[in-house]
Amino acid sequence: LMWFSFPGSGQDHFVDLALIVFSGSLCLVGNFMMERSARSDFLQQRLLEIRQQDLEASNAYLQLLLRTDALTGIANRRYFDQRLQEEFRRAERGDYPLALLMIDIDCFKPFNDTYGHQAGDEALSRVAGVLATFARRPGDMAARYGGEEFALILPGSREHDAKVIADELVATVQGQGFPHGASHVADCVTISVGAASVLPGQEDCDEVRLIARADQALYEAKTTGRNRAVSWSQLAT
Ligand code: GH3
Ligand code: MG
Ligand code: MG
Repeated sequence: LMWFSFPGSGQDHFVDLALIVFSGSLCLVGNFMMERSARSDFLQQRLLEIRQQDLEASNAYLQLLLRTDALTGIANRRYFDQRLQEEFRRAERGDYPLALLMIDIDCFKPFNDTYGHQAGDEALSRVAGVLATFARRPGDMAARYGGEEFALILPGSREHDAKVIADELVATVQGQGFPHGASHVADCVTISVGAASVLPGQEDCDEVRLIARADQALYEAKTTGRNRAVSWSQLAT
């Protein structure tokens, strides 16, 4: 078209054509570079997102490790302390009761002495597994308090309800029939439970006192024969 439709010498046309080809090529190269840069930016962005997701996943895993008891897989003491404090404040604001069960395996030292520490660890995991099934509602939490002692936080439960759950827990653990030939309570692994409940919004008390009450009730369950649950108000009356 350049060659035939416009006036001028053949050399001019050649220069025009060369210019058009040059500017066209320049556009193509520019376009190519722009697109390459856009693609590279997109890939970099995706890489950044994937790295961010990886970081979040490892962070969540680390948090889980920090909260979990390595032997039993339920919450550890550190997370128990944190959650009890949180649930206490929540119950205070919501003006509802907060119950706590303190649980201790009966005659556990003789169990270790008879079956060995590995079997002892296995028994701890099994009891923890049963306890975990009792954390049924949102906010409930089963934790290993330390050694062969466990705890169950029950937000919204009054002491009477907590005692019913505690009785059910005692019966369920005994019902599992984990053999314990050295126990003077039964021929299988049993637990004793102390139950207490407070109304954080109304009573002048804190989580330390709630633990102390559940502990007193647990002590009473131990001294009155073990393999049973006692609630704190049973002591007061
Ligand atoms: P009681 O009925 O009065 O509770 O008696 P007990 O023998 O259960 O209580 P005691 O406090 O005398 O013994 C607790 C035992 O728990 C002693 C300790 O060796 C054992 N124990 C604590 N932590 C662990 C653990 O992680 N693994 C094992 N295998 N045993 C543990
Ligand atoms: Mg103990
Ligand atoms: Mg014990």
